[in-house]
Amino acid sequence: MAVRQIRVLGDDLLRKNCKPITAVTPRIQQLIDDMFETMYEANGVGLAGPQVGILKQVVVIDVDDGNQYVMINPEILETEGSLTEYEGCLSVPGKTGKVTRPAHIKVRAFDENMEVFELEADDLLARAICHECDHLHGGLYVDLVEGELKDVEDVAEEEEEG
Ligand code: ZN
Repeated sequence: MAVRQIRVLGDDLLRKNCKPITAVTPRIQQLIDDMFETMYEANGVGLAGPQVGILKQVVVIDVDDGNQYVMINPEILETEGSLTEYEGCLSVPGKTGKVTRPAHIKVRAFDENMEVFELEADDLLARAICHECDHLHGGLYVDLVEGELKDVEDVAEEEEEG
């Protein structure tokens, strides 16, 4: 496994559409392993292919709920409700902003064995899945931020002050 370089805001690759994956080859398996390592190293909760320079529809997610999700060719089938929370992205280091996302979603994707599965998710997991799926189509959360993009440190202070 290896930690890969994370592309940051301004990199054209982050704005491109990703191709679906047709088979999990050893190279794709290596990519998935590297994406987990890269995400943990950077203390993130999700990472998408284009963030490590690969324009393929694959995301990894770990929101500390005991699961390591691999989603290949994910498609959000249903959304319900809404929640507005601060959100960040490993490709936009040091920044955060408020984004409204569905409170509940249903997603369909393929796992590492190319077996299709459906998953229902709430709150942070739903937010992470929506965020990562946007990456596969050139979307970044900064496009959706309500108000200003802030420095993470400033927001931490704000929250301490109440
Ligand atoms: Zn992101």
